[in-house]
Amino acid sequence: MSGPTIELDIKRLYLPGVVLHAPCPRCSKVATRDFATDYLYYPTTNEPFFTSFVCEKCGDDGNGEAFDVRVILEFCLRTDEPKEEI
Ligand SMILES: [Zn+2]
Repeated sequence: MSGPTIELDIKRLYLPGVVLHAPCPRCSKVATRDFATDYLYYPTTNEPFFTSFVCEKCGDDGNGEAFDVRVILEFCLRTDEPKEEI
């Protein structure tokens, strides 16, 4: 792990272009979560945390069944000046 753990004071963090996949622990079907439309709630950087995915195959009411997946939001801020060759 790299970088500090920061509790971002962001209620809804959307990440367009970030799509993650995880297998359902019950049926093994791969669930997908698109963070362009499905935000992270007060995320923390550089430290694993759990967020929920939904398996559309499981669940009795047709709304799917949620399960937790461990994720990590790696966050880095650096200068973007031209680098000198060493
Ligand atoms: Zn399932």
